[in-house]
Amino acid sequence: METEYTYQILLLSEFLLAPVVFFSLLFKTAPYGRHARPGWGPVMNARFAWIAMELPAVLTMGVLFLYNIDSLHPVNTIFILLWEFHYLYRTFYFPMQMTKIRTDFPVVIVLMAVFFNVLNGYVNGSYLFDIRPAEDFSFAISSSFVGGMLVFITGFVIHYRSDRTILRLRTKSGGSRYSIPRGGLFRWVSSPNYLGEFIQWCGWAILTWSLGGLAFAIFTLANLLPRAISNHQWYKSQFPDYPAKRKIFFPGVY
Ligand code: NDP
Repeated sequence: METEYTYQILLLSEFLLAPVVFFSLLFKTAPYGRHARPGWGPVMNARFAWIAMELPAVLTMGVLFLYNIDSLHPVNTIFILLWEFHYLYRTFYFPMQMTKIRTDFPVVIVLMAVFFNVLNGYVNGSYLFDIRPAEDFSFAISSSFVGGMLVFITGFVIHYRSDRTILRLRTKSGGSRYSIPRGGLFRWVSSPNYLGEFIQWCGWAILTWSLGGLAFAIFTLANLLPRAISNHQWYKSQFPDYPAKRKIFFPGVY
């Protein structure tokens, strides 16, 4: 009962956080990567920043899983495998692929991300392991499970391939310069890595059929769409030959 009350309060907080983050980021781009600028307090190495930001998501879900292991239904292990797969990729694989690591990543951004990842990990994990009624195996062939899984996998593939294209630009040039990414979904939008991540968490929301999943998908859009707008404007300001027809986020639309 107490868990359910805490869950509801934190779930509501996550829904309310999304518009705050969206409008804040529309007016002030998060100051890391190409948008880094002084005046944001202490800074750190970007590789360690990514590890520190994302590890709490791995741990929060992992701890909730272990805490509830005695009452765990097998369907829930599928959820946790998908979650941990994504966050192990983001925490370890992605930062290890980065070259020419920046040292100007603001600690305040890391702290905000840690806060969000603990909140979001708790909201999604406590619902799945503690509150959600136990499903029988027929859930694994339901349209929400199968459809959500397909959307999640499609999002991850887009996201992973776009990350890889971007990271290879630096490997090829051997320097710290930026260049225009091409191929894959970059043909249509400036930030397909963000789009893939959004699709992935929409898949998670459908797959888990949970309000926590919906809150996470909405938050991901609120966080990434303003940055995609800033990235698009930045590319156009830096590269006179930037493809004119390339949209910001949604292929052919925006
Ligand atoms: P970016 O694509 O801006 O940067 C990723 C890496 O590629 C950085 O090392 C960056 O270098 C380098 N890079 C970017 N563009 C170019 C280019 N044109 N030429 C050469 N190198 C380039 O992504 P983010 O750092 O914003 O995000 C990384 C991942 O994290 C994304 O996949 C995103 O989806 C995910 N993410 C998810 C969030 C969520 O809310 N779920 C929030 C934020 C990120 P440099 O650092 O020097 O710019």
